[in-house]
Amino acid sequence: MSGYDFDLFTIGAGSGGIRASRRAAAFGARVAVAEQRFLGGTCVNIGCIPKKLFSYAAHFKKDLEDSRGYGWSIHQLTFDWRSLLDAKNREIERLNGVYRNLLNQSGVELIWGRATVTGPNTVDVDGRTFTSKYILVATGSSPTLPEIEGAEHCITSDDAFYLDKLPKRVVVVGGGYIAVEFASIFNGLGVDTTLVYRGDRLLKNFDADLGNFLAEQMSKRGVRIRFDTTIRKVDRDGTALSCVTGDEERLSCDTVLYATGRLPNTAALGLESVGVALAANGSIVVDDVFQTAQPSIYAVGDVIHRMQLTPVALAEGMLVADHLFNNGAEHMDYDGVPTAIFSHPNVAIVGLSEEEAFQSGYTVDVYRSIFTPLKHTVSSSGEKVLLKLIVDRESDRVLGVHMVGDDAGELLQGFAVAIKCRATKAQFDTTVGIHPTIAEEFVTMRTKVAA
Ligand code: FAD
Repeated sequence: MSGYDFDLFTIGAGSGGIRASRRAAAFGARVAVAEQRFLGGTCVNIGCIPKKLFSYAAHFKKDLEDSRGYGWSIHQLTFDWRSLLDAKNREIERLNGVYRNLLNQSGVELIWGRATVTGPNTVDVDGRTFTSKYILVATGSSPTLPEIEGAEHCITSDDAFYLDKLPKRVVVVGGGYIAVEFASIFNGLGVDTTLVYRGDRLLKNFDADLGNFLAEQMSKRGVRIRFDTTIRKVDRDGTALSCVTGDEERLSCDTVLYATGRLPNTAALGLESVGVALAANGSIVVDDVFQTAQPSIYAVGDVIHRMQLTPVALAEGMLVADHLFNNGAEHMDYDGVPTAIFSHPNVAIVGLSEEEAFQSGYTVDVYRSIFTPLKHTVSSSGEKVLLKLIVDRESDRVLGVHMVGDDAGELLQGFAVAIKCRATKAQFDTTVGIHPTIAEEFVTMRTKVAA
C-alpha cells in the first residue's frame, strides 16, 4: 500500500472519470473522485441523454403528421414544454442516483467540490488536501460564446436544457453536430427556426454528401438555413432579440443559441504549475497511455480533445485503469469509431469519408443511393434517405459506411462491427438483406458512382 491517501484521485465524475474510477477500484485500488456539479458529467446532465430525450419529443410532431397518409387524423395537437422539462429532469435525477450507487458499490469515495492540482501527488478540494499516487484529470469541456456585442444575450447548449419557456423564434448559430441537433429539436417542437452558419456546408468534418443532403432534408422540414452568414452583434429590445448579420440584415428572434465550439476545462486547475503541458487550445497533452508531461498525472475524455464522444471517454478511462492497476498494455484504437448525429433526419457514420480515403492515399470506389423509403411513399412527406459506401479498390475492403435517414445511429452500430472486422464489399454483397428495410440497401448496392 502506498503512503498516499489514495492510489488514484480522479477529478471529474463524468463519463471518463467515473468509468476509470470504478474500474481502478475493481482492481483493488483505493480511489476518490471529486465532482463540483453533477454525477455523470456532461453526457448525463447537459449532453447526450437530455438531448436525445428532446430529440424524441421533437420527432412526434412529424410522426403524427406522417400518420395522416396512413389514415389517422389528429385534432388539436398541443405541446407542453414544462411537461417535457419535468420528465427530462426526473430521468436525469434517476440517472444521477444510479451513478451515486455505482460509485458507492464499487467503493469509490465521492468528494463534492471544486478540485485543483497543487502538486504531482496532491489535490485541493475547496480547502481540503488529499494525496494520491496518481491523479486523473477528467474535467471535460465547456461551450464558448463569441466575442461580439450582445453575446451576453445568447445561450449555449448548457442553457437550452433549462429554458423556462419554449421560444417562438430561435436562431441557432453553427454548422456542427450540436447546432444541427438543436435546430432540429426546436423545429420539431414547432419553433420558427433559423440556422446560421458562416461556412457553406453543414458537418464540415464529415463526408461532403452528408452535410449537403442533411441541409436539403432539414430545409424541407422547415429549418431556414443561412450559409456564409456571420452574426456581427445581437441587440436586445425588451424580450425580443435581433441578430445583425455581416450584411447588416436583422434576424428577429426570442433566443439565440450559439453552438460554435467547446473548450477543454483546464483553466485554473493548477496544471501548468505542476508541469502538465497544455496545447494551444488549452487541452491536456498526453501520450498513448494518457500520461501527461508530469508522470503521476493522467488525463482522459474531452479535456484531451481527441474525439469528444462519451464511448471514447469511457474506453480511455478503462484503459488508464487497466494500465495503472492491471498491467494493461493495450492502446486506444481510434480507427472505426462510429458516431451518430441526432438531427432530423439522423446522420451516422463509421470509417472514412470519401475525402479522408483520398487523402490517405486510397483509390476508392464509391456506392451511393438516395431513395424514398417505403414508409414515406405512403406518408407523402417527401423524405428521402442517403446511403453511401466507400470501398478500397485494391483490397475490396469497405472503408466507410455513411447514412442520413431515420434511425441511422441504431442501424450503423452493426456496420461498425463489420468495419472493425475489415469486411470487404464482396462480403457485404453476399450478405442477405432484411426485407423490407432501409438497411438492406447497404448489401444490395451494386452500381458505382461514376468517377
Ligand atoms: P464530462 O462528462 O463533461 O465530465 C466532466 C466532469 O468534471 C463534469 O461533471 C464537471 O462538473 C467535472 N469538473 C470539471 N472541473 C472540475 C473540477 N475542477 N473539480 C471537480 N469537478 C470538475 N457524445 C456522444 O457520444 N453522443 C452524443 O449524442 C453526445 N451528445 C452531446 C450533446 C451535447 C449538447 C454535448 C455538449 C455533448 C454531447 N456529447 C455526446 C459529448 C459527450 O457528452 C462528452 O464527450 C463526454 O461527456 C465527455 O466525458 P468526460 O468524462 O470527458 O467529461
